[in-house]
Amino acid sequence: MHDRSATPARPAFLDGKAKKLFIGGKWVEAQSGKTFGSVNPATGAALDEVALGDAVDVDLAVAAARRAFEGPWGSMRPVERQKILLRIADLLEAHAEEIALLDTLDMGAPVVISRYLASNVIGDTFRFCAGQAVAIQGETMTPSLPGDVFAYTRKEPIGVVGGIVPWNGPAFNATWKIAPALAAGCTLVLKVAEQASLSPLRMAQLCMEAGLPEGVLNIITGFGETAGARLAAHPDVDKISFTGSTETGQHIIRASAGNIKKLTLELGGKSPDIVFADADLDRAVPAAAMGVFGNSGQACLAGSRLFVERGIYEEFTQRVAEFGKSLTVGDPLDAGTQIGPVVSKEQLDRINGYLAAGASEGAVALAGGVQLTDGKLADGYFIPPTVFANVHDDMTIAREEIFGPVISAIPFDEVDDVIQRANDTPYGLASGVWTNDINKAHKVSSRLRAGTVWINAYSLMDPAVPFGGYKMSGYGKESGTHQVQEYLNSKAVWVQTN
Ligand code: ADP
Repeated sequence: MHDRSATPARPAFLDGKAKKLFIGGKWVEAQSGKTFGSVNPATGAALDEVALGDAVDVDLAVAAARRAFEGPWGSMRPVERQKILLRIADLLEAHAEEIALLDTLDMGAPVVISRYLASNVIGDTFRFCAGQAVAIQGETMTPSLPGDVFAYTRKEPIGVVGGIVPWNGPAFNATWKIAPALAAGCTLVLKVAEQASLSPLRMAQLCMEAGLPEGVLNIITGFGETAGARLAAHPDVDKISFTGSTETGQHIIRASAGNIKKLTLELGGKSPDIVFADADLDRAVPAAAMGVFGNSGQACLAGSRLFVERGIYEEFTQRVAEFGKSLTVGDPLDAGTQIGPVVSKEQLDRINGYLAAGASEGAVALAGGVQLTDGKLADGYFIPPTVFANVHDDMTIAREEIFGPVISAIPFDEVDDVIQRANDTPYGLASGVWTNDINKAHKVSSRLRAGTVWINAYSLMDPAVPFGGYKMSGYGKESGTHQVQEYLNSKAVWVQTN
């Protein structure tokens, strides 16, 4: 057990040596010999050096993944894959503290959050997928043709998968690619985000300890425009599972055309969270607030367009603002911290741009609104929880994904009107509805064009429930039983007997 009151010890994985690529079960330097630095966003200080993987390294990793797919992994019995996944779950949980600290140091998530994910969510996701590994089923059909004919479908692993993930939850995002790919019997080349590479590397090491054969999981560190683009275009990669921005998703769609790769795309969002006057406001205030402020707003599902019925608009936005002000912003390694820094100077500058746009377009900051630069926070990238009131649908802060702890609170008058306005966005990832009227709750949730609707809740996630977008938030599902299906091909086999 770790002592929750003390500053946690630096993980042994950060041994001062540059981190290498993980290819074919071995640590290898980038072919160029180059590395790049990763930065602790809470202090702006250098954290570690990481191999600068490029196209040639991706080619080596894809070749290793292909060999593993055609080797013992491809013919391994499902129950053996299941046992490995279960051992991975146990080992990751046994090293949860280390994984949590790597994420907190690398991208600034408060340690309470990264500990929760590493201790609960990650292992359980592997276990859920382990259950799926032995439950892959086809179907039989009776065609209407003359003679004795029947057909059945076989579900077969797609093959070599490229996973490309963002930085906002490094261990969690890696889990959402690794666990289903392995359960389905695929092999994986995972391109981790340049801002936060460390925990997936450590996870790969633990996967090997759990008995994963060499080459089944390969990790490439490096940049999107080089390593990521090569993976997306690689002729021997059968599928890309991507999580990231809509713009990069569009690049990946184009790059995948060369060999018609299958794609799962989990992209951006600008999700509506709708609060009716009859809702339980005591529950709605903290959940709507943390649906944006959690992880400093760096979550694709953030309910950043907060629609509030006019009769309670002032009271509710004030209460959300007070809640935001009550949150402890600071050193993410401190167990009392609720809001950490944003991931990078680049992200800080982007969010500051949106704060300026909000103010100049006439929104009023009821909480936050200005970067924090007091004392120790000056060296890191800290934005306080921000609530903008007086927001109109056409303001920049109501239309674009900010990926920061910024709520745009917008009043509405009627059900039909708010549904139309909530849907008036290119995105369709998530949404929330707060009301004690059961008819209204279901009517609104059926008409929202989004892949997830939470009724009287926000941000709930579970391995059993699918997650994925409508419209420009992407296609394909992660989580749930759908997640493993995304990694399977369906083959029809015809049989004619005489
Ligand atoms: P964010 O803006 O959240 O960083 P991105 O979509 O830029 O989101 O990045 C998500 C992941 O996609 C990262 O691993 C990044 O390196 C990768 N990436 C960025 N550009 C490309 C590209 N052109 N092709 C493939 N991967 C890319």
